[in-house]
Amino acid sequence: MTEVEPARDGQSPEYTARYGERTFRYCLRYLPDHKKATIKVHVHPNGKVQVDAPESAPLADIKLAVQRRSRWVLNHLDDIEERNSHVRLRQWVSGESMLYLGRRYVLKVINDSDQRRVTCKLIGGQLRVQGRELTPERTQKAVHQWYRERAQDVFQRRLAIVIDTLPWTKTLPSWRMIEMQTQWGSCSPDGEVLLNPHLVKASTRAIDYVLLHELCHLVEHNHSSKFYELLDRFMPEWRFVKEDLDRRAETFLV
Ligand SMILES: [Zn+2]
Repeated sequence: MTEVEPARDGQSPEYTARYGERTFRYCLRYLPDHKKATIKVHVHPNGKVQVDAPESAPLADIKLAVQRRSRWVLNHLDDIEERNSHVRLRQWVSGESMLYLGRRYVLKVINDSDQRRVTCKLIGGQLRVQGRELTPERTQKAVHQWYRERAQDVFQRRLAIVIDTLPWTKTLPSWRMIEMQTQWGSCSPDGEVLLNPHLVKASTRAIDYVLLHELCHLVEHNHSSKFYELLDRFMPEWRFVKEDLDRRAETFLV
């Protein structure tokens, strides 16, 4: 069977959908009304999102239908990305995808013989590493360092913001970063908070959840029902945020 591939203007128009802090592109294909009675959203294994809609469907209805499926689409896209990242090991070369605050950036490695010091900067959609004689090892080191610096800054800022919403403390706890493979954060009995710098790859909301979790431990040291009451009170949607973070853990911990 050959599928009909009509589009009103000869090509499939592309649109952007937003879900929380994330977005994705999708292409829209109009099909004759008799072929497709409903709006359908597909995620292809190559990560392309395609929406099929009857010719008579108003664009606003189509956008709303996509919006309603956006969490499902993003979950699929994340699964695809996760699978891909397991298949190919990171090589630290241009074109690889890097995560920061829940968004993807493309790594761009620029060899510049005039530049003695290696720099790493976010420019537009790129994480740009520039310097002389950039081997994968030097690139990795520069990116690693950049993540740590960003994490230091982001965690400090978010801690202040989250603390501001809590009645039991207004002072920043003593905190430091430590790379961990099984934890995003922890809080010692004497109130020192440890945070995993890999967490800076997650969305701001996920970061806030981890910070809130640790800050709740300042008053409830164990995972008691009182502890969960605090979480529920200050981030009612925390279970969803946690589930999402756990699902992506493997992608973040590389
Ligand atoms: Zn805990």
